[in-house]
Amino acid sequence: MFKGMFKKTKYVPISMEETQQQEADQLEPEVRQQEQENSEASATELTEDEGDQPTVPEGLFIKCKICRKTIYRPDFEENLFVCPECGKYHRVYAKSRIRMIIDEGTFEQWDGRTEVADPLHFPGYPEKIESLKEELKMDEAVVTGYGKIFGRQTAIAVMDARFMMASMGSVVGEKITSAIERATKEKLPVIIFSCSGGARMQEGMISLMQMAKTSAALRRHADAGLPYFSVITDPTTGGVTASFASLGDVILAEPGCLIGFAGQRVIEQTIFQKLPKGFQSAEFALEHGIIDAIVERKDMKKALSRLLELHMPYVPEEKKEEGE
Ligand SMILES: [Zn+2]
Repeated sequence: MFKGMFKKTKYVPISMEETQQQEADQLEPEVRQQEQENSEASATELTEDEGDQPTVPEGLFIKCKICRKTIYRPDFEENLFVCPECGKYHRVYAKSRIRMIIDEGTFEQWDGRTEVADPLHFPGYPEKIESLKEELKMDEAVVTGYGKIFGRQTAIAVMDARFMMASMGSVVGEKITSAIERATKEKLPVIIFSCSGGARMQEGMISLMQMAKTSAALRRHADAGLPYFSVITDPTTGGVTASFASLGDVILAEPGCLIGFAGQRVIEQTIFQKLPKGFQSAEFALEHGIIDAIVERKDMKKALSRLLELHMPYVPEEKKEEGE
């Protein structure tokens, strides 16, 4: 019923002016702090996106692969990993995303099942997972938990493309499902930041089953009268697009992000037709009613807060603590 509200406009009609500067001020020290904590990961932020080596690996300057301009790293981070020169949105790690969206000090990570399923005994798969866990300090391609957005409670799941392109293996599906189920039990709204390369081929059919599992959990969440907001980020494809990313009561996307099911070439070769340029972009999806709004990264927290405000009654913080 709320979809109509957003359909007619290109961007969410929320005035951001008053909060932009304030949010930028809030974020800067957080991002810096993160850099100190995890300088190695941060040094490859840009290059993760482009699959290339950094031009100045440990320096203060990085090169944008799109416009080729040299960017001063603090400027880039302050600009929420959007190139200040060309405006290209670079991918964000799950942890950085949580810092951008969730109020400082309120995030509580939820644990899920973390043992990897290897139903096909895929050569090297368990080893690959173990080395990624070690390298990225993440148990899988999604981080789930509870947090507050300008004081409003929510369950949140954020996918991270560094972990096997955030493909939907059984652990990803299970973590998302259990987060939705817990949100249903605790009467919390759900926000999922999606990005995914699609199914995890190493898990075969088990990977595809995650689509039904996450969708069923969302249905029970909806039946309990609770809202789910989906945020699509670059790139969201395959089984994730075909399940929870498209099931939001309100579906938002970042500008210019890729939203699709199969790749453009695969579709063209299947239907023997040339597809229009940019047909898998957020802008195209908005024009064709697949998503409800495109929201700029700097405005995302405020937009989500507004949605929570509209759909959830405000519950003061003591309420949750009492309930536990
Ligand atoms: Zn650029």
